[in-house]
Amino acid sequence: MSRLPLWKSNWDTEEKNWNERAKKAKVNFPIKDLKVMPQIPGITEETAKGLKWKSLKWMIQKDSKMEVLKGFLKHPMKYGWEFLKSAFKSKPYKRQGDFFLYGVESLEQFEELIKDKSSVFILGFSYCHKPFECPSGRFTSECIYDDENPVCQQCFIGKTAEITSTTDTIFLIIPTIHYIGGKIFEIVHEHIGKNVYFIITACELTLEMFGDWGNMVNIRGLGVRLDGRICNTMKAFELSEQGIKPGLTVVLDDTQQRILEFLRKRL
Ligand code: SF4
Repeated sequence: MSRLPLWKSNWDTEEKNWNERAKKAKVNFPIKDLKVMPQIPGITEETAKGLKWKSLKWMIQKDSKMEVLKGFLKHPMKYGWEFLKSAFKSKPYKRQGDFFLYGVESLEQFEELIKDKSSVFILGFSYCHKPFECPSGRFTSECIYDDENPVCQQCFIGKTAEITSTTDTIFLIIPTIHYIGGKIFEIVHEHIGKNVYFIITACELTLEMFGDWGNMVNIRGLGVRLDGRICNTMKAFELSEQGIKPGLTVVLDDTQQRILEFLRKRL
């Protein structure tokens, strides 16, 4: 049964219950977590060179299923122009802490925008943020969220899945950049004339590399910087896109809390 009505009517109690159940699950069925938070740069100096070019090359050369190309070709002139406009800016985003803002002036403005229930709202998580023990597998676009499963009970993605279940939220797990690119095109083309807002977690490298692509289709929202064993080199990024990701990424506690506040506003 969906617990959404309970979250809606009594958020604080539901959240307290969730956190207590997560603590119990952690005692009885501890899942692997990061023992030490690595202190590494979001993007290495070498990787940061010519990033826009590297991004363009990756998007074109690795689009084997033509997920992005098909979407682009629906409106090539419009998308091409918007892409160029974004690419010639020094940065395709503004930044507030862990949040990268695309087409949005501030977190406060975003909070107001997503209250508009006629808009489309996407909540997406990079697969590398799933627990290693995830019952849906790690390198997949699936999240079966089972509230009886002790792994799901400890998973932040699961917490948001419970909150947003049966809402109009489009909930996505993102295995590759082409997957999310294709999905975004689909969503935008299915909802012509509607505002599309998003919260998506990703490594800083990805948020930097692909911001112009989001701006190109005029969706607005927040990229949430992951911490932990992030990809901060092209090599690590390339391996991760093939499902080779031995490390775990995390959303920091304060940032998780801010995401929950946004979801609460959207309910
Ligand atoms: S909630 Fe989803 S992502 Fe998290 S462990 Fe369960 S199936 Fe995996």
